[in-house]
Amino acid sequence: MPVSSPPEASTASKNWTDEELAASVRAYVAMLRSELAGEPINKAEVNRQLRETALAARTESAVELRMQNISSTLFDLRLPHIIGYRPARNVGSSVKLRIGQMLEANGLETLTMYQRTADERELARKVTALLRQPGNGGVPAGSAAPAQVMTHSLRYVRDPAVKAWVLKVADGICEGCDMAAPFTGTDGFPYLEVHHIMPLASHGSDTTSNCAALCPNCHRRCHLSLDRDEFRLALYEKLDRLVLEVPDSVLNEYAVYIDPSNNS
Ligand SMILES: [Zn+2]
Ligand SMILES: [Zn+2]
Repeated sequence: MPVSSPPEASTASKNWTDEELAASVRAYVAMLRSELAGEPINKAEVNRQLRETALAARTESAVELRMQNISSTLFDLRLPHIIGYRPARNVGSSVKLRIGQMLEANGLETLTMYQRTADERELARKVTALLRQPGNGGVPAGSAAPAQVMTHSLRYVRDPAVKAWVLKVADGICEGCDMAAPFTGTDGFPYLEVHHIMPLASHGSDTTSNCAALCPNCHRRCHLSLDRDEFRLALYEKLDRLVLEVPDSVLNEYAVYIDPSNNS
């Protein structure tokens, strides 16, 4: 033994064998899956069992730190980590790379529905995948301070006169369900949203013959409901001023999800 052996935490990453790392990742992923499913996990017991087998050469705190390294790697991948293992800071990139490869070997792709995202459509797809999972799962930790990303988005230049005219004609009554606007907006007018029947993203026009004033429920229905195509067709039949526009078939497939809050 060298006289001044450095503390374990700083040398552990170099010394750990692939077998040791793989055993840690395997145990971690099994616990993570249980936690995500809402089942109880016993971290201390798993730590003890690991030190009785593959990690016999390691201390309890070294195993604990390794688990936090794995949390850190998962956090970087925008994936959930075991709530009780806070991501360690200052984890070497080579260790993260090795842990990342071992996570792949443990079916990382089945966790991608949990992966955090800044993309609205991806978020919607993941929520649907999670809704299809049996049970409620564990209470997710979420993000206390969600990361931000810079995005470039294409915006359409809209004509205020078109929007105002459609709202005036509707006169506070939803043109979809004929119910009164659900509340008064901050501008003092009945709150309705102006929807483009043929989406602007599908080369629809910004004209009164392509716009309807809708309550928030009917607007969301146009964008997000199972019967949205029938609902749109019903609007064409209901409102004489609407003129059917030819969809741009190429762009249309990218217009599957359009955030109604954009008032498109
Ligand atoms: Zn309505
Ligand atoms: Zn809309």
